[in-house]
Amino acid sequence: MKILVINSGSSSLKFQVIDSESEEVLVKGLCERIGIDGIFTYRTDKVSIKEPVAMKNHTEAVNTLLEALTDSEKGIINDYSEIDVIGHRLVHGGEKFTGSVVVTDEVIEAMTECNDLAPLHNPANLVGVDACRKLMPDTLMVGVFDTAFNQTMEPKAYLYGLPYRYYEKYKIRRYGFHGISHKYVSQRAAEFMRQDPKDVKTIVCHLGNGASISAVKYGKVVDNSMGFTPLEGLVMGTRCGDVDPGALEFLAKKENLDFPQIMAILNQESGVLGISKNFSSDFRELKDAEIKYNEKAALAREIFAYKVAKYVGSYAAAMNGVDNIVFTAGVGENDSDIRQEICNYLGFLGITIDELKNREQAEAVRISEGTSRVNVLVIRTNEELEIARETAEVARQAGIS
Ligand code: ADP
Repeated sequence: MKILVINSGSSSLKFQVIDSESEEVLVKGLCERIGIDGIFTYRTDKVSIKEPVAMKNHTEAVNTLLEALTDSEKGIINDYSEIDVIGHRLVHGGEKFTGSVVVTDEVIEAMTECNDLAPLHNPANLVGVDACRKLMPDTLMVGVFDTAFNQTMEPKAYLYGLPYRYYEKYKIRRYGFHGISHKYVSQRAAEFMRQDPKDVKTIVCHLGNGASISAVKYGKVVDNSMGFTPLEGLVMGTRCGDVDPGALEFLAKKENLDFPQIMAILNQESGVLGISKNFSSDFRELKDAEIKYNEKAALAREIFAYKVAKYVGSYAAAMNGVDNIVFTAGVGENDSDIRQEICNYLGFLGITIDELKNREQAEAVRISEGTSRVNVLVIRTNEELEIARETAEVARQAGIS
């Protein structure tokens, strides 16, 4: 079946059309600057387009992509009806969604109830859903949640040390994010190593601009470093990760800041950007600067690597062992130096890295030596493919083949 995968953000909408049988990507594209001016990117194996197209809102963005898909020259289908099902990436499903679902009015209502939990992401996702429903009312829509894979965490992992009543009243707990990536990568690692995911303990380090680590034991998440929001855990590009709330009260008093101002600092001005004294949140630029003896850039990378290693160590303890450690996402896939630096802390687990393998660029590669007690892998994440797979599965259950 042909699946249209949609990842809708506040001013952008990424899309792919994937053939679920061959898993071939037929079209890949992006509507950017929606509501501002509009840039449309569209690629197939025959055409590559990037052009300004006015898109006032998400409905116009979806309309633009549908017109391109059915265009006689650049298109890949004759009619919308050739799209069998649409899979939407949905960020926050709260505790309600433990797997992918057909998008119904009830699902939209339940998601709207989660808007408070992800005010930047969920409403933007729903706008994308709404636009597709308007233009393709007869097409089945499936929602794939970024929080669903993490819903196997036990209370000991997801509860904060806060009064229990706040969990009961407001569902304040750790949810974990990047679940679609953690699922895809942990399963791909097992497949690559010819293991059954149900037999192995895997730690996935999703290190991008946003970064999270998960512990996946026998196919199920036991922990994820992100929390109630995607702010907790690792030091990230611009997000602070774990920080003592007491320091925030102190800062608020000293600088006379209110909560929204504090949150803006934690989300946008912190992480490696903040540590490097606003030099950059981009790990490539930090590396270039480190070579030129920029001390704060070097410190930012050092803190990042140290924190990742600490989480890996704690997750090995949480699972009482680890078989595979996997690096993925922008930094994890491309920055061999940071991988080496992280692994330098992990000798106690019997890990040794093959320097040449660590510099290889591939969809999947094992970078640990054959004698290493733990397999260390680099695997390119593919969230769109995971969404397409889950969407196909739900569609099959709904009677579409
Ligand atoms: P997100 O999806 O969270 O925006 P990505 O997974 O796309 O993030 O990762 C973006 C990050 O990847 C950027 O900070 C960039 O510095 C880093 N990155 C990309 N390519 C390289 C590279 N070759 N070396 C080091 N870092 C890289």
